[in-house]
Amino acid sequence: TEAKSTMENGRILVFVRLRPVAKKEREAGSRCCVRIVNKRDVYLTEFANENDYLRLKRLCGRHFTFDASFPDSTTQQEVYSKTTAGLVEAVLQGRNGSVFCYGATGAGKTYTMLGTTDNPGVMVLAIKDLFSKIQQSSFDENHTVHLSYLEVYNETVRDLLSPGRPLVLREDKQGIVAAGLTQYRACSADEVMALLQQGNLNRTTEPTRANETSSRSHAILQVVTIPNFCNNLISSASYKYPLLCKVQVVVKYQVKGASGNVVNRVGKLSLIDLAGSERAIATDQRTLRSLEGANINRSLLALSSCINALVEGKKHIPYRNSKLTQLLKDSLGGACNTVMIANISPSSLSFGETQNTLHWADRAKEI
Ligand code: ADP
Ligand code: MG
Repeated sequence: TEAKSTMENGRILVFVRLRPVAKKEREAGSRCCVRIVNKRDVYLTEFANENDYLRLKRLCGRHFTFDASFPDSTTQQEVYSKTTAGLVEAVLQGRNGSVFCYGATGAGKTYTMLGTTDNPGVMVLAIKDLFSKIQQSSFDENHTVHLSYLEVYNETVRDLLSPGRPLVLREDKQGIVAAGLTQYRACSADEVMALLQQGNLNRTTEPTRANETSSRSHAILQVVTIPNFCNNLISSASYKYPLLCKVQVVVKYQVKGASGNVVNRVGKLSLIDLAGSERAIATDQRTLRSLEGANINRSLLALSSCINALVEGKKHIPYRNSKLTQLLKDSLGGACNTVMIANISPSSLSFGETQNTLHWADRAKEI
């Protein structure tokens, strides 16, 4: 498949998904400012300020190219096969893969990752595909699948499958690991879904008044939730969802080596969903919010420094500056198979957020 062949290059594959116009946006009289051209290119139109007579009616546009860009008519299955199916294939061959989604709240991250009962998203399709491939006769019986689920809240790592004391991140030969994180053995896709639902009950969700609606949309199987890559948001206010949740599926199996000996293989699939970075201004939980704000700012700053350092080819990448970047180390640098899906709204009301998302998606392409 397309995704698979591009992946051999060992860089991050970057995709953009445009969601349909929402009723609210239409009712607010917003215009469409995004166009997908040739299945790859995103054209972002900036409407000139109508008070500025010199620029009146002149449209400033910006053009971006990604590995693929999905128009609003794209099905969940299509998004899965073009972005993630190749990763699942790789994981079954003992390699590691990560998928992460990001964009502003309401841009379609949860829809893309989890979807709905009728239209399951990438994560659900990946887990089903993984098990169906394992059950196919081409694979041996000896595959085992282990699941873990964690979140980061205010720079604290928590095990969602077995809540208790915060976990410590350690670096070992395999990379950054959360010491003592529960690894549940799962034998079917249904069992994985049940474990994830259980984990969701343990998640830290403290909806602020300003964000009640969007917090509900985060309810089911959220994967990794971290703030958006927004440089210009670092300075002020506080943010909701200072959370990072990460689902990892580890596939272990054995193969016969050349001399008849048994060789152990491990492949890991990490499923990540980045939370929106909107300001939660003037809520009645000010103290908590400002603590979160400080930590989110730190994470955001750390993430943008890592991306910049990676793009500039620096030797030292400052992963250690936040839990977020430590946990994303596997996905951002080195020989990982990583897929980023940037979610955007077509509405001119979200122009700034869309521009920001496209900016960071464009930057990530260079990693
Ligand atoms: P986010 O997780 O980024 O905050 P959501 O995934 O919750 O955003 O999407 C916001 C709303 O838009 C939801 O009601 C969702 O069902 C809808 N939506 C998002 N993407 C699509 C899509 N591709 N097709 C149809 N509806 C979508
Ligand atoms: Mg969401």
